[in-house]
Amino acid sequence: MAKVCSQCGLPLGIGRGNVWHPNGVITAKHPPHIRGTLYDVEELNHLFPALSQRMGFDITRLVVEGKRKDGRRYTDSLMRNFAAMGKDLAPIDVYDLVARFCKYWGLGLAEVLDYREGERLTLRTLRYYNDPMSRGDWAGVFEAAERKRGETAWKDEPTKEILEVFAVKGEPELEQRIEQELELGIPCEEEEDLQYRYCGECGVPREVGQQFAWDAEQALIQERISGRRFILHNTNGIVAVVRVLREELGEEIDGMIIDISRQYARGYYASLKEKTSLDAELMKFPLRSWGRVTLCRADGEGYRVRLLNPYSPPVMAGRIWGLLETFCGSVLALSHLEQGESHLEMRLMR
Ligand SMILES: [Zn+2]
Repeated sequence: MAKVCSQCGLPLGIGRGNVWHPNGVITAKHPPHIRGTLYDVEELNHLFPALSQRMGFDITRLVVEGKRKDGRRYTDSLMRNFAAMGKDLAPIDVYDLVARFCKYWGLGLAEVLDYREGERLTLRTLRYYNDPMSRGDWAGVFEAAERKRGETAWKDEPTKEILEVFAVKGEPELEQRIEQELELGIPCEEEEDLQYRYCGECGVPREVGQQFAWDAEQALIQERISGRRFILHNTNGIVAVVRVLREELGEEIDGMIIDISRQYARGYYASLKEKTSLDAELMKFPLRSWGRVTLCRADGEGYRVRLLNPYSPPVMAGRIWGLLETFCGSVLALSHLEQGESHLEMRLMR
């Protein structure tokens, strides 16, 4: 059983393993301090199929690849941390450990059913958050543990509960080049004047427990106000997927993501409008590692918004756009957009 904080109800492992920074970013507590984000699962599940549809081209393969590299990088650093403490993990220990983390982060319930070293890993995976992303995650974990490229397939295609990961030949040189791209990570800027009220027992900001019902045994994190499922997961995987898409398909990808996220945000905020406010919603951003709003000013013509450290600039631009439209009750036009890797500036006109 996962031990739970008696004050805020979060699994104690969450506070032990993660830090909520005042600059709107969540990172792992231990080196290399990989950034994490609280993702809205419905938004995530909607984004990539919607992109495929707009482009008339299935991007599932690219999503799996981006996540595979991310999963490998994460697992590599996990194994290095254990090795530094004098403990070399066998592959099966790595799988059991990652399966336990998956419960804590709300990613799903995974259980090792069968394992043949260097060849094959068979898992029962229930309640996983997303099909291609979970497959990518497990392929990457396998690759780090076995030092062999991993491919995945559902053993039972109609129900998709039994996942097989098996070793295939890869292209180590090409892989390494893409890996370096991923190592770039996401630069973060500091701004320290935001104050959280931290839980005295587990060390996580108290608002996190107020906003989410966090059940590690069921691998479910539920946003209380909307009932929607969330996960805590590495930020880099999504960023890497978007980067790969942009390289392959061009800059217009950003515009499509902004529009898909804007439409999603309109529906999401319309469903909670009566229970919350614009300010309350903006205050939630840093607690989810979505970045920190440093300016949101309304004038006669519209809004000016600045966000520091967005986890994904186009996703957050779309979300802010749809959020403001919902709360001001009219359609807004985007007249200016500046997006860097650690900031976002928007001008929205009535
Ligand atoms: Zn607590």
